[in-house]
Amino acid sequence: MKLEFHGADQNVTGSCHLLEAAGKKILIDCGLYQGGREMEEENAEPFGFDPAAIDYLLLTHAHLDHCGRIPLLIKQGFTGEIIATAASCELARIVLLDSAKLMEDEANYKTKKASRHGQKERIEPLYNVVDVLNCFGFFGRIANYDQPFVIDGGIQATFIDAGHILGSASIVLDIEHQGRQHRILFSGDLGYSARAIIRDPTPPPHADIVVMETTYGDRLHKPLEPTLEEFYTAISKTLARGGNVIIPSFALERAQELLYYLREGIEHGRLPSYLPVFLDSPMAISATQIFQRHPECFDMETCATLASGQDPFMFPGLHFARETADSMAINNFSGGAVIIAGSGMCTGGRVKHHLKHNLWGRNNAIIFVGFAAYGTLARQIVDGAKEVKIFGEEIPVNAGIYTIGGFSAHADQAELLAWHRRTGQPKTTFLVHGDKDVIPIFANKLINTRVEIPAVHQRYNLEECL
Ligand code: ZN
Repeated sequence: MKLEFHGADQNVTGSCHLLEAAGKKILIDCGLYQGGREMEEENAEPFGFDPAAIDYLLLTHAHLDHCGRIPLLIKQGFTGEIIATAASCELARIVLLDSAKLMEDEANYKTKKASRHGQKERIEPLYNVVDVLNCFGFFGRIANYDQPFVIDGGIQATFIDAGHILGSASIVLDIEHQGRQHRILFSGDLGYSARAIIRDPTPPPHADIVVMETTYGDRLHKPLEPTLEEFYTAISKTLARGGNVIIPSFALERAQELLYYLREGIEHGRLPSYLPVFLDSPMAISATQIFQRHPECFDMETCATLASGQDPFMFPGLHFARETADSMAINNFSGGAVIIAGSGMCTGGRVKHHLKHNLWGRNNAIIFVGFAAYGTLARQIVDGAKEVKIFGEEIPVNAGIYTIGGFSAHADQAELLAWHRRTGQPKTTFLVHGDKDVIPIFANKLINTRVEIPAVHQRYNLEECL
């Protein structure tokens, strides 16, 4: 038995692990590297294994940094079966299509730019929309939570709820090797409990080998209640003075969470009873529709909302802006509205137009509810820039700026430790999906297990880890 690490090793993107057991090669996730040119160049590098030799790809969830290299895997010869939960399969489709579209747009832009300097060759995207459409045929069996199934002789898989995004799973593999049973557990990304919509992470079983994420292995999150208080207050105050509230948001999970909390706020009298809200993102709208199709992933509160005849994501005053013309028409709306648009870090998408129209106005507010990486427009505004450049124009920052932490989709240090304790005393724990400064801090907190911090393309003989 061998375990190889080909992504998200001492960093947080590009998740890809390869298990060789019972004569089969099983990939767990095949994610895209994201953030910064150097990282993105990694995507074009060889995988570190032969895609044609892989039998199965098990997908933990549909975030791009876990599924984004699937089209590339297939272009390079993968002919195996992709197995995921039903919600992950549907979400992965829109996530991959969106990714291909962005790659095509960027390649076209670079080709045009290069042609102005006399270069004739086209710059090709990593993959295009047709490559993504071609992937869909490789999605095979659907994994249901908590129902073990045989992947292949001697290999049984159980997907358990990871509580991270809709359809997310940790994967338990029970493997027969030389007459003995071994259990290997892949955490995937783990959620933060008590969040809206989806269930808390299912407590994992005991395992011999654990591969786990450590994104927030060095810190604790702010509790949800004060976070919501801050969120509702910022919106109410801004609308009371007739201003607009712009919320840059990721399309998947965060946008649906925002709709859920806005509806709750209205129902519980913490927001005005009629609240004009525009969801201005075609992808967030599609993701919301996929959420509505998967009540099997919902927590008790959300199921109760559904049972009472109420859609958890809908309320009077909510408008979906799918077409560009709908998006532009929002500028003509007067009297104050909440506008949710992508991208979350304001690096592209429709939110840039809304920032251009609203940043300069003193009555308006911008609420940041997610991570803002260095070098992004979101980060400049969060860090207090007095002026920012948008579409070539200097825009003064006069609007109120709120940065509301506490909406994280990842477990914090305490929750990661509690999850790991439930795995018993694994012989070896491999720590992945964390920054290289963060992983050692978390590693020091683990007891009763041997800890490994793999480097990219590192290979382990699992007999030596058991
Ligand atoms: Zn994730």
